[in-house]
Amino acid sequence: MLERYVIHVTKECNCDCLYCYEKDKTSEYTWEEIKHLIDKIIKCRTRDEFGIEFLGGEPMLRLDLIKQSYEYLESILEINVVDYIITTNGTIMEKEIADYLSKNRKIRLAYSLDGHIHANQLRVFKDSRKNTYHRVIENINFLKKYGIESTVHMVTHPYNVAMIADSIDYLYKLGIRIIDIGTVESVMKINKEYCDRFIEELDIVSKKIIDGTYSDLHIGLFEWLKPYSDVRSYIKDPETGKTIGESYGRSGNDITHTNDYNVIKCKHKDEISEMIHHIRKTAYDSHQKRLEEVINS
Ligand code: SF4
Repeated sequence: MLERYVIHVTKECNCDCLYCYEKDKTSEYTWEEIKHLIDKIIKCRTRDEFGIEFLGGEPMLRLDLIKQSYEYLESILEINVVDYIITTNGTIMEKEIADYLSKNRKIRLAYSLDGHIHANQLRVFKDSRKNTYHRVIENINFLKKYGIESTVHMVTHPYNVAMIADSIDYLYKLGIRIIDIGTVESVMKINKEYCDRFIEELDIVSKKIIDGTYSDLHIGLFEWLKPYSDVRSYIKDPETGKTIGESYGRSGNDITHTNDYNVIKCKHKDEISEMIHHIRKTAYDSHQKRLEEVINS
């Protein structure tokens, strides 16, 4: 598994999603802070090959810092950053950004979009309170003209769990071929009804992949089961208390073992994380079993 380091570039956001877990909505970051983190990541790396993710708030609000980080990391010959993922709410796009992305193909966008318009109703703009759906679709289509495919990350919760299969069908018809599915972990409580429905919906999708309806669709959780032990670590600046980065998928003693930052590990196990792991594993196992049956038939 690839080690991945997350760099926070701003906590400002132009949206106000109803399930947003982020408590810090104002912190900004300087290039000096980010460069210091990058230098530490490189110094403490356990492998020369790793991935980078840019996160916010809304990271596209500080594309300048993303570009600086990318150019700096690419200039260091001893390392190989396999890819750079910008996890974005998908509402910010313009021609210059598309031009930049088409020239720098290692940078990929992962758009947060919870499915079709009704499934996405908790993702809203801060000013107008309107659903972000139309803007995100517009931007995905805009990037397609540049030959840039976007990954979609769907957050599921009790209000849209019954729409997972329909949403995936809808996104597939729009040309989306890589979809990750997550579960809201805080703010909203999931329960047994959510879990049962999640498994049922994923079963519908799995059958359609196996019968060839979605032959070229990649659903992250069908292809790779995140180990339960792989908890995220949050890297905090001891002076300001800001979360400046994160790391996951580690293979050894990396930056999270230095004394330069305060490191907060997510709780290993609680009721919610166990439920989430259980439904993901059930969906993954069922899909793998179906695949095996096809191979052996
Ligand atoms: S896009 Fe939504 S979930 Fe992400 S930081 Fe902004 S308000 Fe929070």
